[in-house]
Amino acid sequence: MNAVGESTATVGEYLYRGDAEVARALLASQGIESYVKAEDEGGLNPGFFSDYRVVLVVDAQQVGEARAALGLGESLFVPGEASATMLAHSRWAQPNEACGLLAGTDDAVEMVFCLSNRAASPIRYVIDPREHHGAMRYAERAGWSIVGAWHSHPGGDAAPSRTDVIEAPGGTWITMIVGTAPFGANIRAYRTHGYSIQELAIYSELPAGSSRLA
Ligand SMILES: [Zn+2]
Repeated sequence: MNAVGESTATVGEYLYRGDAEVARALLASQGIESYVKAEDEGGLNPGFFSDYRVVLVVDAQQVGEARAALGLGESLFVPGEASATMLAHSRWAQPNEACGLLAGTDDAVEMVFCLSNRAASPIRYVIDPREHHGAMRYAERAGWSIVGAWHSHPGGDAAPSRTDVIEAPGGTWITMIVGTAPFGANIRAYRTHGYSIQELAIYSELPAGSSRLA
């Protein structure tokens, strides 16, 4: 039994149940009731995570408080033209994954690099090391850092795969994923902390009507 009401909200996503339980205990210590729900317990939105799902659920009225308690709720500025560039490159690269690097600061992407996928695969990517180096030098000259990497999920959605989470460097590193599902492309951004996944809310200043994202 739990004290979460009928109106619930997901506050966190985790690769392993243990990490979700740690977060649940942290919330409990601050007086916020929550419960852990895994895919085999049913009822989750299909497609949000394609091959695993452990989520932490709270009462909808406490979602802001819970996110703050868990250190979530960060946002990331991504210019509309950067999103359009990644999407175009992703479509060009199909059926293979597209990939590249993100330059900017911890909370703003200033430029995206569209680089070669040496794996030339629809299910994985390896950024060309020489291009990687060139992008780093270019970013440095512009006064930016390489703050993350992006890749596409051809024909899929923008949720991180198990591999994406396991291979992410953690810290402030940003993982952006472009999903080019036929029903509508989408772009999402994440940080990982161990096996917990923190989605970053993307905002941009695209003029109304100029976004090409569905
Ligand atoms: Zn991926």
